[in-house]
Amino acid sequence: MKPSVYIETFGCQMNVADSERAATGLRKAGYELCESAENADVVLFNTCSVRERAEQKVYTRIGEVRTARGGDRQPIIVGVMGCVAQLEGERIFERAPAVNIVIGTRATDRVPSLIDRAQRGESNVSDLGERAENEVWDVSPVERHSAHVAFVPIIEGCNKFCSFCIVPYSRGREKSRPAGQIVAEVKRLLVLGYKEIHLIGQNVNSYRPGTESGLGGFSGATPFCRLLRAVAATDMPRIKFTTSFPRDFHPDIVSAIEDNHNLCDWVHLPVQSGSDRVLKLMRRGHKRADYMERIDRIKNSSRRLALTSDIIVGFPGETEEDFRQTLELVEQCGYDGLYLFKYSKRPGTPAANLPDDVPEKEKTARFLELEKAQRRAQQEVYRAYVGRKLSVLAERQSSRSSADLVGHSTCHKVVNFPGASSLEGEIVDVLITEAKTNSLYGRMVNRPVIA
Ligand code: SAM
Repeated sequence: MKPSVYIETFGCQMNVADSERAATGLRKAGYELCESAENADVVLFNTCSVRERAEQKVYTRIGEVRTARGGDRQPIIVGVMGCVAQLEGERIFERAPAVNIVIGTRATDRVPSLIDRAQRGESNVSDLGERAENEVWDVSPVERHSAHVAFVPIIEGCNKFCSFCIVPYSRGREKSRPAGQIVAEVKRLLVLGYKEIHLIGQNVNSYRPGTESGLGGFSGATPFCRLLRAVAATDMPRIKFTTSFPRDFHPDIVSAIEDNHNLCDWVHLPVQSGSDRVLKLMRRGHKRADYMERIDRIKNSSRRLALTSDIIVGFPGETEEDFRQTLELVEQCGYDGLYLFKYSKRPGTPAANLPDDVPEKEKTARFLELEKAQRRAQQEVYRAYVGRKLSVLAERQSSRSSADLVGHSTCHKVVNFPGASSLEGEIVDVLITEAKTNSLYGRMVNRPVIA
């Protein structure tokens, strides 16, 4: 009998999608997947290396799992997958001797054979190779993280080489999936009853497939705009996409959203800093004014589009004046949500050669000031939803109250509302009655409705 496998996932949606794919391959090869590390024969950690703390987490978790299982109940095989595996390679075997397998970011489909090798007694099994040509990206519905929302990778890797970012090294160059394959996957998901898909990638709007397959008959200023229209034509009720890269954000993306009601009213566009001097040091390839031009198009759309962003504070050389410019940009943009990060030096990136000269105390102070400003602005944005009706996908029972359901609106707000679990998977209209810090509360007004 094949051993049982548990996969624990850290980091971004791409990692979640990779774990779903690895699980699909494992089950196909006869492995049993389990829900916890408690009794699994094989424990795999799918890792993130975007910040130092994320990278440390895997070593902490390996220790925790080993301690929890006790001396005589250790898993037969421990594997490290994903970004840390790709970057650290065989050094992981020295740092964590309990690890038997290292699985790089493009070896997701070879996990079953790697486990087989370790089981046959091979020590220190590692695969940091490329994806095989014509690899199938299919994910079995049982392995999806949700029965209602599915992640569909459209591009992986990154060619941008922002000076702070490890992604081009951990995930390699950009590689786009043929649109025909993506559209076919979305159509299958529709038949299976999925109500929402997220087109995902490090930079989705840099999508550039090597073939016209699936794009014929769909207009657009860029291949991504054509893909959006092709996916919208499947009639999947809700389509979201993340993350967009500012330099490649063509205004036609907004036009595509305006033309297709099932392209959701939410854009995530990371700016990282409001200072041109810092943006240059970050090698972002855009200035503040270029970013604001894109924001103007988004804000002036005929639909009200929710806008979210990422910001790094304390980048090497960031002065108080640079930080003030970021603060001002945040106030100008009126974001619906913001992901804030303190700069973390990533070995091997160009910024790692710059002195990490903003003291930790100052990074924290800037982080907190920005967080406070965003909370204030966000309160206004959220309060403006009170009295409005939002279309919400009921995803699951709320963990806070069994009488409530929780889901996301098309504008990607978390919305809680009273409802029976029989409604899970339905799209309902919710009248918003209360704005909380990071979520909205309301009651259903007519149900169920089709988006
Ligand atoms: N596509 C995104 C973009 O436009 O930059 C990159 C996604 S990245 C995986 C997620 C976020 O983590 C980044 O947007 C950035 O704000 C943050 N991040 C990346 N590298 C970082 C570092 N070295 N220190 C702190 N935050 C970092």
